[in-house]
Amino acid sequence: MAPKECNACSDPTNNTEHAIAMLELAGLRATGARVILTTLLFDDISDCHTTAEILYEKAFKAGSRVSLATVYNTLRLFTSVGLLRQISVNSTQVYFDTDTSEHQHFYNENTGELINIKENLLAEIILPELPECTRLMGVDMLVLVSN
Ligand SMILES: [Zn+2]
Repeated sequence: MAPKECNACSDPTNNTEHAIAMLELAGLRATGARVILTTLLFDDISDCHTTAEILYEKAFKAGSRVSLATVYNTLRLFTSVGLLRQISVNSTQVYFDTDTSEHQHFYNENTGELINIKENLLAEIILPELPECTRLMGVDMLVLVSN
């Protein structure tokens, strides 16, 4: 995955300033919890997929006492303003992706790992005719794998 381009702040090495600038650009108030979660989400570009539970654990280890409910609400809010993309791998497991570009995923059912697929699978796919009075919002493809 290519690193995200961000012109949100003048100094990309200042994590807090960067997080505040990202939130303000998205039209969100930079509360303490949002700044911490933004920093944890977007600082490690090698790790673009997370769940609420994983992010909650990272925040706890970083010394933050943000509740799991706040983490859930923040992830949903960030998704609604386009900072994150939500990927439902099954009826109970939801991932959040900091890479909001069009791409598909492998999901390893053994490890629970979500992996970006490098190839553009959608270029090969013929989409069906859409139901009446609907518009295409996107195509999510999950390739299930197992060890
Ligand atoms: Zn992804």
